[in-house]
Amino acid sequence: DNPIQRKPDWIRVKAPVSKGYKETRDLMRDKKLHTVCEEASCPNIGECWERKHATFMILGEICTRACTFCNVITGKPNAPDPMEPENVSISVATMGAKHVVITSVDRDDLDDGGADQFVQCIERIREKSPGTTIEILTPDFRGKKGALEQVVAAKPDVFNHNLETVPRLFPSVQLGSRYFYSLRVLQQAKEIDPHIFTKSGIMVGLGETKEEVIQVMDDMRCADVDFLTIGQYLAPTPKHAAIDRFVTPEEFEEYAKIAKRKGFLLVSSTPLTRSSYHADHDFAKLRAA
Ligand code: SF4
Ligand code: SF4
Repeated sequence: DNPIQRKPDWIRVKAPVSKGYKETRDLMRDKKLHTVCEEASCPNIGECWERKHATFMILGEICTRACTFCNVITGKPNAPDPMEPENVSISVATMGAKHVVITSVDRDDLDDGGADQFVQCIERIREKSPGTTIEILTPDFRGKKGALEQVVAAKPDVFNHNLETVPRLFPSVQLGSRYFYSLRVLQQAKEIDPHIFTKSGIMVGLGETKEEVIQVMDDMRCADVDFLTIGQYLAPTPKHAAIDRFVTPEEFEEYAKIAKRKGFLLVSSTPLTRSSYHADHDFAKLRAA
């Protein structure tokens, strides 16, 4: 009765086989880079890597926190790699990525929470790939004075920080984070630079109600969040938080309709939506509009 083995047919994933996928994979190996695409066993990896869209995970693959839905290892991380910003920027340029997402594990052990490594990645990518739009998906930088200001001042095109779930479920799944703290991070990013697009997302299927999801949308809009993602939670292994249920494609569509009515500029709400899924297409469309 393992929920991982009972995936409905709308959670269909194509095996990654294309030439473009292999090129991206070889590049990541060659530069010794980590990606969420691989670390989170993302179901979209075949599709994204084929068209050279990836989410780089900087600052190592060991996290100082231990969220119950996440596949990343918890422990004592290694010192930041000084060559990482350069290697990320070379990979982005080699891939010819139109839009890139940079995220990190949570680095509560570092004085700046890893903010400087984000800034350096943004700066290097801007130098080598001035036409590439940059989205950063950051931790909450809790207790790290000036860290949020520092990353926003580097002018990423999109500032993303995920709420992950509804407030009631935070104590059981989002260990180490606080719902309203994360919401404030989003609001502060917008206050520091009103021209920046802000983005957030949640996973559903963890036991939340429809009313709770709608409340999260309202909370995000109150914090001036521009883009929203909603996707199905898939337990990485039986040891992770259990799937409560599979939300139907119709329910996802309804969430998308409600979110658009609430004024989000971009909404992705489908079973396979991930924080960075179609971020390249969607952002390009918005800029062209
Ligand atoms: Fe990577 Fe995001 Fe695509 Fe998943 S959806 S493969 S994490 S870019
Ligand atoms: Fe995973 Fe992020 Fe939680 Fe770390 S803070 S365990 S990377 S979700």
